[in-house]
Amino acid sequence: MSDTVSDAADRETQDRDRHPLAMETLVALCAARGFVYPASEIYGGIAGFWDYGPLGVELKNNLKAFWWRRMVRERDDVVGIDSAIISHPRTWEASGHVEHFSDPMVDCRTCKRRFRSDQIQGERCPEAPRQRAITECDLTEAREFNLMLRTQLGASVDETTTAYLRPETCQPIFSGFKRVRESARQRVPFGIAQIGKAFRNEITPRNFTFRSREFEQAEMEFFCHPGERERWFAHWREQRWQFHLDLGFDESLLRMRPHASDELAHYARAAEDIEFLFPFGWQEIEGIHDRGDWDLTRHTQYSGKELSVTDEETKERFMPMVIETSVGVDRTTLALLVAAYRQETLEGGDERTVLGFHPAIAPIKVAILPLSKKLAEPAHAIHADLRRHFNAFYDDAGNIGRRYRRQDEVGTPFCVTYDFDSNDDHCVTVRERDTMSQQRVAIDGLADHLRELLEQDL
Ligand code: ATP
Repeated sequence: MSDTVSDAADRETQDRDRHPLAMETLVALCAARGFVYPASEIYGGIAGFWDYGPLGVELKNNLKAFWWRRMVRERDDVVGIDSAIISHPRTWEASGHVEHFSDPMVDCRTCKRRFRSDQIQGERCPEAPRQRAITECDLTEAREFNLMLRTQLGASVDETTTAYLRPETCQPIFSGFKRVRESARQRVPFGIAQIGKAFRNEITPRNFTFRSREFEQAEMEFFCHPGERERWFAHWREQRWQFHLDLGFDESLLRMRPHASDELAHYARAAEDIEFLFPFGWQEIEGIHDRGDWDLTRHTQYSGKELSVTDEETKERFMPMVIETSVGVDRTTLALLVAAYRQETLEGGDERTVLGFHPAIAPIKVAILPLSKKLAEPAHAIHADLRRHFNAFYDDAGNIGRRYRRQDEVGTPFCVTYDFDSNDDHCVTVRERDTMSQQRVAIDGLADHLRELLEQDL
């Protein structure tokens, strides 16, 4: 039996109810503890732009490093690049962005705001109170609105050229395909990966960092023979699903959603999204796309440079097909924060907030907490040693219970306490975030002990 609209709506409500976390709670925690806060905050912020603070940048860097490790370092058949953000403007003509990269948009003449027409329920302006009549919303007809951000290059007004801040990181991978293939001495099948900023003039940036105007993507374009595209699509689909499980996401928070045929880009053969259950519903964090030979064919046409390849054994000449994996770094960081957040009531009634990050992703790996300021000297020495290996933090302010809570709240997996016995037994206490269990460990072997714990399951 097929789903009715109300079945789907019920399921959506149930999914949301599974999330005890309200976004406002997370947004407030992120600002208070320096994960993420509005860009230009003292000027009231700027819609769609966010700054990552001292803990946020560590979290995001750890995520990017893990992606790079899985996608580039651990594979013989993928190489990395870091391209310029601004490409030759012809790039975006070849890619179809100048002509097609737009959303249908409506303006409300009453509230003077602009919305994506496909995100408006019925014909109502989202600003209108429920009881207001549709006519009072006074929406314009839908018009196409190009999402690329433009800039001008060149000094004098007459000679300036319009350039675009890239709306996706993959196009320089296609335009650099020949150079990378030859210089890295790679043969099809192989992939090119990069992590970098992308910009889209989103009409309605919202849901915290989820839909931003400046964001980061981690993309990999895998080039293969036309006869092998299904096999590689299946391979990358499986690899990318496993990546998210390895990040520590519970499987119940993830799902694969194949695109319906009317959703596919005109050049795409297949596409699936990996979706995450946010407090605001199931939403895409990654796309896996079979882009066919569209990109290389178009860049061949527009540049006049031949991008097809020859199979050295069969001498067959062909245009490689492309399987793309494209994950949003900011969306995944947000998903990590959502999944990690929990509020616990401890024995005795105390409350604690915990960010239960996988240790590999946690911004601070270990906090060194001397029991008293009198023990600062040996505790500093341990800190100096550990920080050569991992991001280690020193804190001697306040009682030890409060210091543990502060670390729990930012997801630090281990706390090392130097106490009055440590001078004699040359041991410290290592306290684990989730179980709060404590173990006496020799200072000599402390770095190795922590490394073993931090690298577990990876
Ligand atoms: P959406 O339909 O949500 O706008 P999309 O299908 O246009 O996303 P892609 O072009 O496939 O997204 O981009 C790949 C990834 O880049 C997305 O899965 C997402 O994680 C990220 N991404 C895209 N647009 C944004 C944005 N405005 N803010 C943050 N991340 C984004």
